[in-house]
Amino acid sequence: MDFAKPLPTYLVKRYHGWKATTYSENQFWYRRLADEGQRPRAMVISCCDSRVHVTSIFGADQGEFFIHRNIANLVPPYAPDGDHHGTSAAIEYAVTVLKVAHLIVLGHSQCGGVQGCIDMCKGQAPQLEAKESFVGRWMDILKPKFDLVVDIEDSTEQARQFERQTVVASLENLMTFPFVSSSVEEGALSLHGLWTDIGEGGLECFDPHQKKFVPV
Ligand SMILES: [Zn+2]
Repeated sequence: MDFAKPLPTYLVKRYHGWKATTYSENQFWYRRLADEGQRPRAMVISCCDSRVHVTSIFGADQGEFFIHRNIANLVPPYAPDGDHHGTSAAIEYAVTVLKVAHLIVLGHSQCGGVQGCIDMCKGQAPQLEAKESFVGRWMDILKPKFDLVVDIEDSTEQARQFERQTVVASLENLMTFPFVSSSVEEGALSLHGLWTDIGEGGLECFDPHQKKFVPV
């Protein structure tokens, strides 16, 4: 199999630039992280979208966040069925081994995965409904929440509200994991739901009592 090609030149240049500046200025810190292991205080679950810059938003350095990214920042329900569950594996490791104190789900505006789910719910995306569509089957996690936004006429507003529902669905599904719910009950772990507006740089936090998102 000849699938591996040389790394693009621009990446090679950027790497050497990083090694000569950021790394060299923080060598001690990198070595300490390597020797002592990671002790992140928080896990973040965000979308794969390249515009969601988790570490930049929170000014986080290496070693601070345990980050998992997937399409539309979704957490599936707890399903110990022996299958391959990448998201669930990351959550299990963060909560039971790293013992993070905070678990943050970060949704975002203009989410392509959410738009795909809307199209699917409106019967406009047969390609996503195919059994072979990994994206479609992944977005099935969100489908039950469409009822909450189905009556919103403005399509942009509908998408923004549905994006916020990815966060709520993930928080609800997180609590179906026994090791998450027990850590939350013990007070060792707290869950946080956030949604960021990419164009505006805005950040909203889900208030579970008011059941709505409020600006941070
Ligand atoms: Zn997204």
